[in-house]
Amino acid sequence: MQRCDALATISEDPNRLTRTFASAAMRRANKLVGSWMRAAGLEVRVDGAFNLLGRWNAAQRGAKTFLLGSHLDTVRDAGKYDGPLGVLAAIAAVQSLRERGVKLPFNLEVVGFSDEEGVRYQTTYLGSRALAGTLTAADLARIQEKQIGKARRPRGEFLGYAEVHIEQGPVLEENHLPVGVVTAIAGQNRLRVIFFGVAGHAGTVPMNLRRDALTGAAEFILTVESFAKQHPGLLATVGLISTAPGASNVIPGHAALTLDVRDQSDARRLAAVASLHAKAKVIAKRRGLKLSWTPVQQTSAVPCDKNLAQIFSKCVAQRGHEILKLPSGAGHDAAALSAICPVAMLFVRCKGGVSHHPAESVKAADVRVAVEVLADFILSLAKRQ
Ligand SMILES: [Zn+2]
Repeated sequence: MQRCDALATISEDPNRLTRTFASAAMRRANKLVGSWMRAAGLEVRVDGAFNLLGRWNAAQRGAKTFLLGSHLDTVRDAGKYDGPLGVLAAIAAVQSLRERGVKLPFNLEVVGFSDEEGVRYQTTYLGSRALAGTLTAADLARIQEKQIGKARRPRGEFLGYAEVHIEQGPVLEENHLPVGVVTAIAGQNRLRVIFFGVAGHAGTVPMNLRRDALTGAAEFILTVESFAKQHPGLLATVGLISTAPGASNVIPGHAALTLDVRDQSDARRLAAVASLHAKAKVIAKRRGLKLSWTPVQQTSAVPCDKNLAQIFSKCVAQRGHEILKLPSGAGHDAAALSAICPVAMLFVRCKGGVSHHPAESVKAADVRVAVEVLADFILSLAKRQ
């Protein structure tokens, strides 16, 4: 917890916590966290994508590697725990294993990824995708730091990846539990939806002759909400709306909104998007509006590995806590790593489910549980090898 506090003082903005890809602040963060890795007995290096890596080599040469970690970059005006907690918990778990004189049959590597939030290039998981070797040609063309390609690791090198992360939601708090085992990282669709009507004078066009784009959008927004409530596991959000002309005495001729749809099941998510599109068409037609429906982004759900999740569950139960399995609605580096190895995640309760905000808060007692469970998880894996 003290390390989280110390790391939170390293920022590129003196008034708030912000650390973005390849910034001087990230270099300072890597230096500080690297010193803690060394203190835990790890061999430290920074790769071509500015990922910080601390390695504990197995006695046996040619052993495969298990990866632990999370990200050290932040959003603008961030909290202290989203990302750093997972890196520092991994270092603490390693330290406890080494103090106990544990010998592992695999190499253990702790990674602090350099870019998960995507603030610098508006493209998420740069650090973890560079390591996984899944950056696209378009990504590589945009990124100024050309050595990023060198971070790629050989396929088949990793046995798996495990990440501790704050929940960023209220479910663990609701259930009075310190940690939870993640089942999957939800897939998501982002769309831009526009209702086109006819602008007109607020005082002269009778109500029955109006083609008000905003009331159509409003009906659709409430439809989105009730539809998602009727479908357990589905999350649908309209986060932004803009109207034109945009005056208090003018009937809106144009209403554009964003739609974000998430689910841990790809089939359910895609079916929901299709249903919402059909409902938007019905609303537009009934109100004499035109509809434009544009997909902006689509990512598939990433299931966590069942065996690794099972080991996490067993370790949680052995520490005397009820097992709660939950999907992640937010994206994580584990999604990028899933391209090259099995992945697992352990969520830690956070106050009020708040994240991406300075008010982000976790309890030391919950962090202790996460560190203990993570150390037990590694021991459990070692026994199975
Ligand atoms: Zn994060």
